[in-house]
Amino acid sequence: MTNQNVVVADAKSGINMTITVAAVSGSSLFPTTAQKPPAVPGTYITISNKKLLQNLDINTSTRINTWVDSMRASSPTHVKSSVNDQSSWMVQHPSALDMFEQITNASKGKQIVMFLDYDGTLSPIVEDPDRAFMSEAMRATVRKLARYFPTAIVSGRCRDKVYSFVRLAELYYAGSHGMDIKGPSKGSKYKKGTEAVLFQPASEFLPMIDEVYKALLEVTKSTPGALVENNKFCISVHFRCVDEKKWIELAKQVGSVLEGYPNLRLTQGRKVLEIRPTIKWDKGKALEFLLQSLGYANCTDVFPVYIGDDRTDEDAFKVLRERNQGFGILVSKTPKETSASYSLQEPSEVMAFLRRLVDWKKLSLRRQFRLRKRLEEIKMSLPN
Ligand SMILES: [Mg+2]
Repeated sequence: MTNQNVVVADAKSGINMTITVAAVSGSSLFPTTAQKPPAVPGTYITISNKKLLQNLDINTSTRINTWVDSMRASSPTHVKSSVNDQSSWMVQHPSALDMFEQITNASKGKQIVMFLDYDGTLSPIVEDPDRAFMSEAMRATVRKLARYFPTAIVSGRCRDKVYSFVRLAELYYAGSHGMDIKGPSKGSKYKKGTEAVLFQPASEFLPMIDEVYKALLEVTKSTPGALVENNKFCISVHFRCVDEKKWIELAKQVGSVLEGYPNLRLTQGRKVLEIRPTIKWDKGKALEFLLQSLGYANCTDVFPVYIGDDRTDEDAFKVLRERNQGFGILVSKTPKETSASYSLQEPSEVMAFLRRLVDWKKLSLRRQFRLRKRLEEIKMSLPN
């Protein structure tokens, strides 16, 4: 008899519980590859194989439906709201453009640090995720932004992929939901020391992720439009081009593969299911790591601004609320439950906000320069 670790995921609450299952040798519940998973934190209890299988059967269809319902709720075309809902939501999460002055006033005397999600924030959501290009105007805006503020791109995508879209070497990049972090390769005055920042907290999961990617490619072949993307430390199964009548079927296919990998968990996004290691690491942790890398770990004079459109960005919004520093901006045209303080409707508004931020900073630097020059002149004119 051997023990196997199993993580039971509750998609609704987001809680994963790791349980140790007593299994008879040679009648393994999971494929060989899942038998030696990296250790994960959790609560350990022992239950029988039979009982576990019964529970899994009962929970499977509920779980699959919950995944799809949650994904629908995150997808803008499915969010219906009345005019009243919209206006009361806008009172709680006003436009960051309308509140620009209040925002910049709150940042006075503090170093603004910018965190930007990519898909749906800097680029529009498109049918083919490989063609989610950002406009030249947006690239130029982000380039200017990075001149004035330390700037990081935080994405669920593989770091190399998101870099191939953004193509700005002076930024920090946190790919795979923050599990693959790299500092600027050149041209940033915010780069600390000579050592390049590189952090990959889930590197031991790489072989497992590759294996699951291949299994998902195979199992989803029969669903037209299904697209599986390997994001290095996580996997995205895109539903964007799948007939909605087939969503449950595709979610079931994903679930069938995941049952063999207890150390991976699933989250839902905009027309996407994402699979990643169960380690306690997310975009919020990545934000904290980057602030620390920049030397702002315990500073009160830092003002982080995080802009994102997805459920996975909520972890970062929550961190900002808990730290009581800076603020989050949710990119959404419709009311959504969020920990962000402000909202912007779409990437074009994000660009307008970033441009205003650059112009405001330029102006305040010019004012400071003029003031310093004037003071110098006064000093020089005083008799010795
Ligand atoms: Mg996004």
